[in-house]
Amino acid sequence: MIPYGRQSIEDDDIEAVVRCLKSPWLTTGPEVASFEDEFKAFVGSKFAVAVNSGTAALHCAYYAAGIGPGDEVIVPTVTFAATANAAVFLGATPVFCDVQPGTLLIDPLKVEALVSPKTKAIVAVDYAGQPCDYDALRAIADRQGLALIADSCHSIGATYKGRSIGSVADLTAFSFHPVKHLTTGEGGMITTHSERYNAKMRQFRNHGITSDHRERETKNTWRYEMVDIGFNYRLTDIQCALGRTQLRKQKKWLLKRREIAKKYDEFFKSNKQLTPLVLTAHVEHAYHLYVVKCSRLVGENSRDDLFQKLRAEGIGVNVHYIPVHLHPFYKNQFKTKEGMCPVAEEECQKILSLPMYPTITDNEISTIQATIGKVIG
Ligand SMILES: *Cc1c(COP(=O)(O)O)cnc(C)c1O
Repeated sequence: MIPYGRQSIEDDDIEAVVRCLKSPWLTTGPEVASFEDEFKAFVGSKFAVAVNSGTAALHCAYYAAGIGPGDEVIVPTVTFAATANAAVFLGATPVFCDVQPGTLLIDPLKVEALVSPKTKAIVAVDYAGQPCDYDALRAIADRQGLALIADSCHSIGATYKGRSIGSVADLTAFSFHPVKHLTTGEGGMITTHSERYNAKMRQFRNHGITSDHRERETKNTWRYEMVDIGFNYRLTDIQCALGRTQLRKQKKWLLKRREIAKKYDEFFKSNKQLTPLVLTAHVEHAYHLYVVKCSRLVGENSRDDLFQKLRAEGIGVNVHYIPVHLHPFYKNQFKTKEGMCPVAEEECQKILSLPMYPTITDNEISTIQATIGKVIG
């Protein structure tokens, strides 16, 4: 089976992990600080805070933005459930926004109508790796006095009007799950330009305590204070060592992903049944996913038909995502229902993610294309 995504672990990654295992620090050590420094340089932010998942990154970002019980957070419904769940962790209510049909990105024209006196933040999800319309979202956030948070788990290395993702929103969350661009096994990062957000997130990832183990060791003190409730969201030095060698290869891998996307784009120009998502102007796409839409909703050549046939032929296609407001949890607990986000509800029945990762070979691309040609007939 050619999977839809796959990590790349090379000798330098393995050597870095082994070196860390032989060092005195397995967690809260120097690899964490170095990974954060290199990451913030990569995305062009003032601060970067390493945590142990993308979900933890979202939780930290929402906490830093002051989201709490009774608040509302506007999120696109086309995303991974964690984007909404992190608001629920804090006692807040996710308010689901519909998307634009061509890109499946949050529709800025529909955001403002969802703003209420309880709204605290707008969350932009750079679906598939394509940046949202940040200028439009920023204008609404400023007008309404809201934080603009980016779930950029799909888009490390992407740019919006020449600005690097990670430096555009007030807070930006990334994931290092193996299926994402670079991996630490599990892991995540939040970037920001705000000193205040940075301090709040460092505290939140360490039980709500104001100093960490290494800081106390440096200052030769054992005393610490817990000033708010927090979690253990720390990323280990072993993982950060891996993240550092992975990050060095990110630029090269990004170019590979764009090359693969070009080959797919070329192929789908002559295919009437499947259409790639629309590319917007002024962005450089990071292609976490390559998503196509099937032209028919049911029967022959519908999404579910092609999913079955391609899987049977060894092509590991996948679906990202079921609109989050249609999950039973949200229907039961937050009274969401069909009809709330009609564009997402229709478009998500057509989508299929094709294999996309930097080590995919030309041969595999040819196989995928030939197999699509064959099953569509
Ligand atoms: C992967 C992902 C997450 C969660 O990241 P984890 O590291 O798996 O916790 C959140 N949002 C989006 C859009 C993602 O793709």
